[in-house]
Amino acid sequence: MLHIGYHESTSNGLEGLGLEALEAGADTFAFFTRNPRGGKAKDIDPSDAEKLNALRKEHNFAPPVAHAPYTMNPCSQDEGLRQYALDMFIDDLLRLEYTPGCYYNFHPGSHTGQGAEAGIDFTSTMIAEGIKKAEKKCGKDLSTVVLIETMAGKGSEIGRTFEEVRAIIDKAEQKYGTSLKGKLGVCLDTCHIWDGGYDIVKDLDAVISQFDKIIGLDRLKAIHLNDSMNDLGAHKDRHEKIGEGHIGFDALKRVTVHPALKNLPFILETPNDQTGYKKEIEMLR
Ligand code: FE
Ligand code: FE
Ligand code: ZN
Repeated sequence: MLHIGYHESTSNGLEGLGLEALEAGADTFAFFTRNPRGGKAKDIDPSDAEKLNALRKEHNFAPPVAHAPYTMNPCSQDEGLRQYALDMFIDDLLRLEYTPGCYYNFHPGSHTGQGAEAGIDFTSTMIAEGIKKAEKKCGKDLSTVVLIETMAGKGSEIGRTFEEVRAIIDKAEQKYGTSLKGKLGVCLDTCHIWDGGYDIVKDLDAVISQFDKIIGLDRLKAIHLNDSMNDLGAHKDRHEKIGEGHIGFDALKRVTVHPALKNLPFILETPNDQTGYKKEIEMLR
């Protein structure tokens, strides 16, 4: 069965996320861990979290995919912004322990002129330090797996190529001290890799085998399923509704049934309201 959901608003609380998903025929969902534009996170209501956990269990949800705020730039040139990113990262990981078994994806960031190599170095520091400190505060391994999102390469974004994602993982493991397998994975965004220059329309198999060779399919934990308003390699990052963009329905459908991908949670981040998402889920199912 296809595991699919969409990015929901948290305005109805944690249980509300699960209820809205059920209403839309979804069995997973995504949500921002806090206001995506910054600010202090609302305190978690443990009984609300408990209700969501029970609902997920009862209805056999696939792992939800929590999204870090856009204000998190772990490879900023500004030390204060890097510290701010690390603090949010740790805080989010601790908060996610109230809803065990989620994924937590974040954008590896924009190097803002220092060059990709410096950016990769800073971002790997946040991952290693963040996971280490969150584990220490928790007193145990986290139940959340952290996911690096593949990016479109807009502006000075890092994580546009599979090689850059691999380099972030390698450096994070060096700094952490041991392998982060089982703790650190990748979330592949179809709009982003298309805009980044990976032709998933003409040759999905080749892109997937490249991913496997460079990063390893065992690291791939979730898919952001989006069409793109722009052409292959445009480096723009503008999501389009499924079937209305340059990737198209057929190619995106093939992504959902590919043997290497079909069991992962698929998250729609298309420009839709609830009715639109419900339709896309029906169409893809
Ligand atoms: Fe994202
Ligand atoms: Fe995405
Ligand atoms: Zn995007």
